[in-house]
Amino acid sequence: MTTPRALKFVLAVLLLCLVMVTPMIAWNFTGQKTALGTNYTLRSAQLASGASTTARWNPCQQAITWQVNMSGWPASKRSAMLKQITAAVTKVSKVTGMTYRYAGTTTFTPRQENLVSAPADIVVAVINPKTTNFSFTENSLGYGGVLWATWYGGDGEGAAVVRGYAVLIPAGMNKLKAGFGGGNTQGNVILHEMAHAAGLDHVRSKAQQMYPDLTAKSPNGYAAGDLQGLVKVGKKAGCITVPSRVNITDYN
Ligand SMILES: [Zn+2]
Repeated sequence: MTTPRALKFVLAVLLLCLVMVTPMIAWNFTGQKTALGTNYTLRSAQLASGASTTARWNPCQQAITWQVNMSGWPASKRSAMLKQITAAVTKVSKVTGMTYRYAGTTTFTPRQENLVSAPADIVVAVINPKTTNFSFTENSLGYGGVLWATWYGGDGEGAAVVRGYAVLIPAGMNKLKAGFGGGNTQGNVILHEMAHAAGLDHVRSKAQQMYPDLTAKSPNGYAAGDLQGLVKVGKKAGCITVPSRVNITDYN
């Protein structure tokens, strides 16, 4: 199906990473394009009229489907990893009020240019970083973000997230304590990336999980600001009526 020109929609993408801080490495905000909030940061989508709106999922969509690609993770540890990811998704779902549905495994490898063709709304990939093209460093733990569509036409204008993704780096994850809890835990990395996949950006407060560095002082799960941000991209913010022409599969 083609998209009539007057009713076109465009896609924008948010790519964000989480790094592990060692005494040797400093991380700064060079290159950040968004003004980061102290406790939570939402993303703005620019609309055709010049107005802007929060880039978020339609929280009333039937379900946000998600799949996993664990090709970079040892087979013997995959079920434990899936449990952690499921627990993080369940947490995001509970806070946002959005419905997520697990749709099994995939071999899809998220790359900067192929997110639009992901087989599920969200792909969580624990993969060899060499197979993708996000800008990882040796301290990278993961990458997460969203892809959103904006539209305009006779029925007005709007924006909605249409894809999310999270990449977890095996070498970095292996250095962390398995499970959830404060500090350098795998659970904290997964929660951080899944909040990116829900639409949140980084923050300036070290007390929040959306701070871009994981440290020994990282909170146990989402802190107050993270929860506030998740609520603001969730069902309480209201449903988004996405025109039927905004069909991601047609866009491919
Ligand atoms: Zn991040």
